[in-house]
Amino acid sequence: MSSKQQIHVDVAIIGGGIGGLTTAVALRHAGIDAHVFEQAPAYGNVGGHLTMDEAAIAVLARWGLDAPFRQVACELAGMEIKDLETGQVIVTMPFPDLGALGVKDDQRMGTRVCHSFLRSDYLQLLVDRIPSDHLHTGHRLADLAGDDQRATATFDNGTQVTASVMLVADGVRSKARAMFDNSPAVVAGHTILRTLCSAELLPADMPNDRMRFWDGWKFGDKANHVGVHVLTVPVRDRRFVSVDLQFMGGDQLEDCNPADLPYDRIMKRYPAAMDPIVKRMVDARLEPITAHALWDRPVATKWVDQRIAILGDAAHSMRPNLGQGACQSVHDAGELVRQFAAHGLGHAALKAYEAVRLPYTQSIVEAAKKLVVDPKAWKNKAQ
Ligand SMILES: Cc1cc2nc3c(=O)[nH]c(=O)nc-3n(C[C@H](O)[C@H](O)[C@H](O)COP(=O)(O)OP(=O)(O)OC[C@H]3O[C@@H](n4cnc5c(N)ncnc54)[C@H](O)[C@@H]3O)c2cc1C
Repeated sequence: MSSKQQIHVDVAIIGGGIGGLTTAVALRHAGIDAHVFEQAPAYGNVGGHLTMDEAAIAVLARWGLDAPFRQVACELAGMEIKDLETGQVIVTMPFPDLGALGVKDDQRMGTRVCHSFLRSDYLQLLVDRIPSDHLHTGHRLADLAGDDQRATATFDNGTQVTASVMLVADGVRSKARAMFDNSPAVVAGHTILRTLCSAELLPADMPNDRMRFWDGWKFGDKANHVGVHVLTVPVRDRRFVSVDLQFMGGDQLEDCNPADLPYDRIMKRYPAAMDPIVKRMVDARLEPITAHALWDRPVATKWVDQRIAILGDAAHSMRPNLGQGACQSVHDAGELVRQFAAHGLGHAALKAYEAVRLPYTQSIVEAAKKLVVDPKAWKNKAQ
C-alpha cells in the first residue's frame, strides 16, 4: 500500500507483535478479513525467548497453529533452581500452574507443561500465514478516533485507515492506551539482558532440556529487590541455549546501547565466585547482549471504546516471571474470535470480550508483581 491513502477494512489490528499477529491469524481462520499495521519497517531477529504453556497452545490448536508451534518450540522438563555461587541444584520441580502461583483460578492449581521458543521464530510462523498485502509494516500509529459505526487510525506516514473494528495491540508502552485510561507505563527497575550460546558448551550432566534458574539473592539485597540471577532455556531443537542475565534493581545500564551492551560492565555485577558455566555461556555468546527493560502498568480499567479495543500488553502488561504475557495475548485472541462469532463484528462482541478478560488478567498481573522466586520455600513444597 502506498502512503497517504485512505482505505477501509473490516478489522484493523494496530501492532504486529505477539498479540496482534496471533489475532490476525485467528481471525483469518474464522473467515474474518483482518489487516495488521506495524510500526517496524520489517520483521527480523528481535532477540530472546518466551515460554508458552499448554493452556495457550490449546487455544492455538483451534486455528491449526499448535503443530507448527511445536516445531519451533522445545518442551521443557520442568525447572531447576541452582545456587549461583556453587552451581548446586537446590530444587528440580515441575512448573506450578497459575492458581498455585497466586492467580485467582482454582482450575489451575496443579502443575503445567511449558515450551520455550525464540520470539522471532514464533513471529515468523505467524507472518508466513498472513498475506503480504494484509501486513503493513512501516505504519506507526499517530492518532485514533471513532464513533459507534467505525474507527479511524492515522499513521505517521499519512495513511488513514477506517475499520468496522479496530484492535490495538501496540505493546506495554501503548500510545493508544491514553484513550482508555491515564495510567502511564513506568520503568520497573528490572532489566533482562539476553544472548544465545551453543548447547554444546553444556557438560554431559546438564542436559539442555529444562529451564534453569541460578539464584543469586545471596549476593544481593532480597528485601529491597536488588540482585542478579541467571535464567536459561533450550531453543531451536535444543541446539542452543537462550541466556537471560537478570538485573533486579541497581545498575540498569540505561546509558548503554541496548542492542549491544558492554560485557565488562555486565560482568562487574556478578560475583567472582560464580558457577563457571554461567561465565562460559556468556563468553561464548553467538549474539550481542541486548537489554530488555521491564515496565509496570496497571491493567487498563477500560478496554473498549465504541468500536476500538485493546489487547495484549497494551491492556494487561505483566512482569515475565509467570511466563504469561504472550500466553494471555493468545487467550485474548481466542476470546475475541469467540465473541465475534457470537455477536458479530461490533461493540457488543468487544464488550463481551472485555467482561471475560479484564478481571482474569488483572489477577495474573497482581500475582506476577508479587512473585519472588524463593528456592527454599519451593524446595520445601516440592518435597
Ligand atoms: C524479558 C521478557 C521475557 C518475557 N517472557 C515471557 C514468557 O516467557 N512467556 C510469556 O507468555 N510472555 C513473556 N513475556 C511477555 C511477552 O513478551 C508480552 O506479553 C507479549 O509480547 C505481548 O504481546 P503484544 O502483542 O501485546 O506486545 P508486543 O509483542 O510487544 O508487540 C507490540 C507491537 O506493537 C508495535 N507498535 C508499538 N507501537 C506502535 C505504534 N505506535 N504503531 C504501530 N505499531 C506499534 C511494536 O513494534 C510491536 O511489534 C516476556 C517479556 C519480556 C520483556
